[in-house]
Amino acid sequence: MAAEVPELCRTRRAGPVILVDAGIGPAGSLAADWAPVPGRLPEALAEAGIAPTDVSAIVLTHLHNDHMGWAVPRDSPFTEARVVMQQADIDAYAANREHAGQYDLLVEPLRAAGRLEALDGERQLAPGVRVVPTPGHTPGHQSVWVESGRDSLLVTGDLLVHAIQLLDPDLPYAGDTDPELARKSRGAALSEARGRGATLAVSHLGNAFSAPAT
Ligand SMILES: [Zn+2]
Repeated sequence: MAAEVPELCRTRRAGPVILVDAGIGPAGSLAADWAPVPGRLPEALAEAGIAPTDVSAIVLTHLHNDHMGWAVPRDSPFTEARVVMQQADIDAYAANREHAGQYDLLVEPLRAAGRLEALDGERQLAPGVRVVPTPGHTPGHQSVWVESGRDSLLVTGDLLVHAIQLLDPDLPYAGDTDPELARKSRGAALSEARGRGATLAVSHLGNAFSAPAT
């Protein structure tokens, strides 16, 4: 992987903002029973000069509740954003009433508001922003390539969840829905990223969740 942060990560271009994943959400979010809510995504964006209405799209890598919190319409300040997910994840949650929140609080209200964009595979979302299916962690897990000239960045969602999977992409994760499919997706994506000298943007390899200082 590239050792330096590429130019595309350091320069914000004018124009609409696309978020990849939407964090754990506010107090009372679907992740509240295990994650340290409230999250601070809206505050972090404000510190970067981004207003909620600047966000034109949110790509959900998958529908686990630590990735979708601020995209849930009842909790979301991003009222102008279309929300992009794979149909395979929608189907999985429509069929699983054990996790009915994902469908009833996220998918259906977004559909009713005309803000749901369900994909079936790869899609170029904007110049230099491409969504690709990387199934296995969930049936509709997807990742995002951000490309500019020779620079590229892969936003991985939960394609990998521990640094040791960078050394050995074959190592499974107990939370993967289909470990064998996840292994294939992880191996292929990491091999492509390595071949391109891409930078990885990951969800869970940094500091684990920690309670805010009081
Ligand atoms: Zn996950």
